[in-house]
Amino acid sequence: MYIKKDLRKRIDELNNFVDTFSNTKEFYDFIETKKIYIALKEDNNYICSRCDSHFKSKKKINQYDICPNCNQKLLLKRTINCEIKDYVMYLIKYGKDFIIRNYEVYSYYSQRKMKHIVTEYARQVISKDGTLGLKIMINNMRRNTAGYWYINYLEKTEYWKPEYYISTFGSVFVDKNVLTSRYWNPKELLDNAEVNICDIIKGIFKEDYTLELLVKSKLYNLAAQYYEFKKGSFDKVFGLDRSYLLFMIENNITYEELEVLKKIKIKDINLIRYLSRVFILTELLKYCKPYDLMKYKVAAKDSFLFRDYLAMANKLNYNMNDKKVLYPKNLKKSHDQVQNLLKMKKDKKLNKKIRERFNQIEKNKYSDNKYCIFPAMNIEQLYDESAQQNNCVKTYAERIAEGSCDIYFMRLNESKDKSLVTIEVRENKIVQKRTKNNERTTESQDRFLKLWENKILKGIC
Ligand SMILES: [Zn+2]
Repeated sequence: MYIKKDLRKRIDELNNFVDTFSNTKEFYDFIETKKIYIALKEDNNYICSRCDSHFKSKKKINQYDICPNCNQKLLLKRTINCEIKDYVMYLIKYGKDFIIRNYEVYSYYSQRKMKHIVTEYARQVISKDGTLGLKIMINNMRRNTAGYWYINYLEKTEYWKPEYYISTFGSVFVDKNVLTSRYWNPKELLDNAEVNICDIIKGIFKEDYTLELLVKSKLYNLAAQYYEFKKGSFDKVFGLDRSYLLFMIENNITYEELEVLKKIKIKDINLIRYLSRVFILTELLKYCKPYDLMKYKVAAKDSFLFRDYLAMANKLNYNMNDKKVLYPKNLKKSHDQVQNLLKMKKDKKLNKKIRERFNQIEKNKYSDNKYCIFPAMNIEQLYDESAQQNNCVKTYAERIAEGSCDIYFMRLNESKDKSLVTIEVRENKIVQKRTKNNERTTESQDRFLKLWENKILKGIC
């Protein structure tokens, strides 16, 4: 790759600085906590992949437990096919600026042991105003066909290249006194929340008061999104009264969780976390109670389909307090059922109006020795005409019902059930006349229609 000379120089400077930097013991301790160890299930026992001891656990597969022998936190697994990647950042000082060092911690199981590969794959210069300068990535970082980055461990790290987009969100480690603020401790925030480090650095150096306040209140996850909050009283800032504060702190609630808490006002973090995974929650809460939604396992369902079902059931005057109505066993089936019912109800109404219109214009029926013409009487006839003629006249039902047009069928006297010409009339004038496949009418058909229009519709001769 061709890289301009001064850019190459800046990359070398950055790399020289980082390569001669001594990572602290605290940083290595932090990385240790990101390495995953599994416990493999064999018969009824789990085997610790760190110390080989056997133990029993009441936890489920894919949950964590602690090894009673070596105290390691262990991910419980049934198979050895496990590859877990975690991403962390190390923030260090770089003159007046900072460097974000992006790491991948790769954990995998091999020969009855967990192995770990820790790779520093990117370096980004960030200024005090939160803007990024030089961003570089190692050459064995590759993008797969789906667009995701991965490290090709078979390839050697040979050089660093500039890269447009590198993550700045996640878990950030910073050594003591590297990032400071006059009134609060930024390290406290980074130790307790995943953040977009650009936002946080920007907030620290412009001494953002909301950020300070949220960290001091120990609402770390909310502090990560401090820019979402307006200044004001507690109620105004959070949309809740003060009685919720302790609950919010104890659970270090996130912005998404706060949004749910505001809607349901129930201090149950499991319920809140569950519902924070549900789309269009507000609309579902119009009909459903929060605990019932969790019981119904709504997060695993199509919430838009569910929303539509509820709205239609309500329209049909179903009892919206009946749990059998609210939480159908087969959502798709029930959805389609109410949809059909609603359509039938609507058709019935339309049909009544079309019939009324038919009674008014039935007098316009006409025939000569070859052709006859008569108005549409109901929706079924429109559907039949549409199917026979391959046109869209079936979509005219509402227009007929509201009186903005009339539809007539012109046919041969000898076969009155077979479609021939479909006619649209507005204000006693033919505005459309179509034969099968929207083809044009013949001269003979036109003569008949002209006569009918003049004699019957306009009453001229
Ligand atoms: Zn162990």
